[in-house]
Amino acid sequence: MFVDEAIIRAKAGDGGKGSASFRREKFIPRGGPDGGDGGKGGDVWAVGDENLSDLSKYSYTPNIFAGNGAKGAGRLKTGASGADAELKVPPGTIIYDSETGALVAEILEHKERVLLLRGGSGGLGNAHFKSSTNRAPRQFTYGSEGESAEYKLVLKSIADAGLVGYPNAGKSSLVSLITQAKPKIGAYPFTTLHVNIGTLEFPDYYEKLKLADIPGLIDGASQNKGLGHEFLRHIERCKVLVLMIDMAGTDGRNPCSDYKSILAELELYSKDLLKKPLIIAANKMDEPAAEKNLKSFRKKYPAADVIPISCLTEEGIGALKDEIRKKCKLLSF
Ligand code: GDP
Ligand code: MG
Repeated sequence: MFVDEAIIRAKAGDGGKGSASFRREKFIPRGGPDGGDGGKGGDVWAVGDENLSDLSKYSYTPNIFAGNGAKGAGRLKTGASGADAELKVPPGTIIYDSETGALVAEILEHKERVLLLRGGSGGLGNAHFKSSTNRAPRQFTYGSEGESAEYKLVLKSIADAGLVGYPNAGKSSLVSLITQAKPKIGAYPFTTLHVNIGTLEFPDYYEKLKLADIPGLIDGASQNKGLGHEFLRHIERCKVLVLMIDMAGTDGRNPCSDYKSILAELELYSKDLLKKPLIIAANKMDEPAAEKNLKSFRKKYPAADVIPISCLTEEGIGALKDEIRKKCKLLSF
């Protein structure tokens, strides 16, 4: 199951305490104070990791601790620093403070690092407290406590192109046809319940793009009535949207009104979504009714970028891939 939200607790390491120690050596009867400082506590970092596709790892282990600093020792030895901890997240993860809701960090790139919590500093050993009036101090200080926080992680987008459309338009069929991902295909009433991400490969150009099959949009999705809202946020960061329309109008659907309602849903969720380049994949062109529907669709929406396809016969699939690549490309410059 695809997990795109998680609550985690994190704590940086505490600093180690300073040491109170005196130099003891043969022939040096009363050595001075030589207690070293405590080690620094480990920090907590957020780190982008492209090998993660979602946040499911934090459903099971919602706690992250950095190591504590070790205590100081005699002979002015500073304690070892605590190990840093890494909160690994897939690129596209936003980190909020779970109490205040404030934005803490956004991790967009693989290996991007952001310091979340600082470890405590080490305490001072007694060597620091030597003075002309106190040549044998026994004072030392404790290390300070590492910072801690509770975060809400939200994974926004993970793909270059997002595929939206009503259930049974053929989204899963397309993803399994043009990528290595193998989503379930079938006439589910509410379609697949998680986001499928497949990689589109363009061997001629040595390029790869990610395509996300966003679960079925249903009426009222943007008002959070249906499942759609949960998933709509995945398309916020996609460069290009592919709107899949069942051009055959299976089960009495009307391609023109499907298109209109999808645009309305997207706009209700966020006006910015419609500023993205849109590609209309007119699917099921192998069906008898499709040709006529396509004609009236084109007449009604002459400006729409329509690519007729069939996931069954694979007609137009190459053209669709090229169009996705072209539009994604335009945005990388
Ligand atoms: P999704 O809900 O949008 O993911 O749709 P699916 O990919 O699960 O497909 C829904 C149904 O439409 C399945 O029964 C598919 O076999 C069928 N289907 C998908 N593409 C085509 C196509 O190009 N032509 C025809 N005739 N049927 C298709
Ligand atoms: Mg599906």
